[in-house]
Amino acid sequence: MTYQNTRTFAEQADLNDPLASFRSRFHFPSFGGSEMIYFTGNSLGLQPKAARELLLEELDDWAYWGVEGHFHAQRPWKRYHEFFTESAARLVGARNNEVVMMNGLTTNIHLLMVSFYRPTAQRFKIVCEQKAFPSDQYALESQVRHHGLDPSEAIIEVAPRPGEHTIRHEDILTAIDRHKDQLALVFIGGVNYYTGQVFDMQAITKAGRAAGAFVGFDLAHAAGNIILRLHDWEVDFACWCTYKYLNSGPGSIAGAFIHERHALDKNTPRFAGWWGYEKSTRFLMQPGFDPIPTAEGWQLSNAPVMSMAPHLASLRIFDEVGMEALANKAQQLTGYLDFVIKNISAETTGCDFEIITPEDPKQRGCQISLLVHGRGKDLFDALSKAGVVADWREPNVIRMAPVPLYNSYTDVLRFGQILTQALK
Ligand SMILES: *Cc1c(COP(=O)(O)O)cnc(C)c1O
Repeated sequence: MTYQNTRTFAEQADLNDPLASFRSRFHFPSFGGSEMIYFTGNSLGLQPKAARELLLEELDDWAYWGVEGHFHAQRPWKRYHEFFTESAARLVGARNNEVVMMNGLTTNIHLLMVSFYRPTAQRFKIVCEQKAFPSDQYALESQVRHHGLDPSEAIIEVAPRPGEHTIRHEDILTAIDRHKDQLALVFIGGVNYYTGQVFDMQAITKAGRAAGAFVGFDLAHAAGNIILRLHDWEVDFACWCTYKYLNSGPGSIAGAFIHERHALDKNTPRFAGWWGYEKSTRFLMQPGFDPIPTAEGWQLSNAPVMSMAPHLASLRIFDEVGMEALANKAQQLTGYLDFVIKNISAETTGCDFEIITPEDPKQRGCQISLLVHGRGKDLFDALSKAGVVADWREPNVIRMAPVPLYNSYTDVLRFGQILTQALK
């Protein structure tokens, strides 16, 4: 695709876009009568129009059936989480017995660390990325302290080199190798939330496992954004939220992946609850935990149906489109945003900005992080006033996600025009 920063180009690209029609499946917040330029699908995805109906069906079934809805609802609540299994497995490249939807993301990080961070006097270190999302930092630190260890000794953060913004892949592998005799866990975001950098999860998993550690990924910014093959990559565990690229509503249900070499093993240590208990005998209510020999064996509580219903609406769309088609458009559309910004940058004097997201299509999904030198939040505020919804991170980074499912080339073009105005 040879990009041009012109209306003719953007409109033609939209006409040729095989996914263009999916935009109409979502509610767009409006701005003075027209649609906002919504570039924050990496923070809270837009509402699928079908979500309301699926949620109302559950409310209706609850009203009609009361407790009997567990068995007689259109989608019986007793096995509600099972309605996600196949789609969730497809989404992250897993086998059906390796995934389960449960809890929130940070809760799942903790639960999976119970299983996969079991430090010994010899092996207690965790390799992670510097400036991971704060919740992940707090989870790692508190887990380390929980085991009576000192985070400053146990947590090894891999940082970008001086003067650089993203982490070099070889530096992660070097850190794994350097600490290999003491390494218990490698835990990294599959896509860094700040820079949008995609990590080579396959190579990291291989190196971490060869060092004798467990390897897990936080896929908050990866699920629904890039193609994942968790099973084939032999990742030990992973978890993700569903309200970002997966458009399932604020605080919606999260996902967990446990590779079948651990999930099928009833002896894999874990915290237990009744919903992880063998289904055929669960209601005998007997003492002694007997886990379901799949990822479902990590469930604690019965399914929060009201928070899960919108996720069902969303996954149906992902099944219909397929990650291959989405990832294709993501490359094109992100490339266009990159092009338009650079095009403006060249012709606008007085403001210097820099894209800190990797340029290599293999190392990014649908996010562009823009570092604005010499300008502060006033620039961002000017964009907001003109109908752009992006995300501001102190001190001076604007994060934008042109989401392939519902953003258009025209959105990117209009954004470019607004940015040009705001810079003047
Ligand atoms: C969004 C995000 C979270 C948020 O955690 P919740 O438990 O869902 O509130 C955690 N980690 C990463 C990397 C994120 O991007």
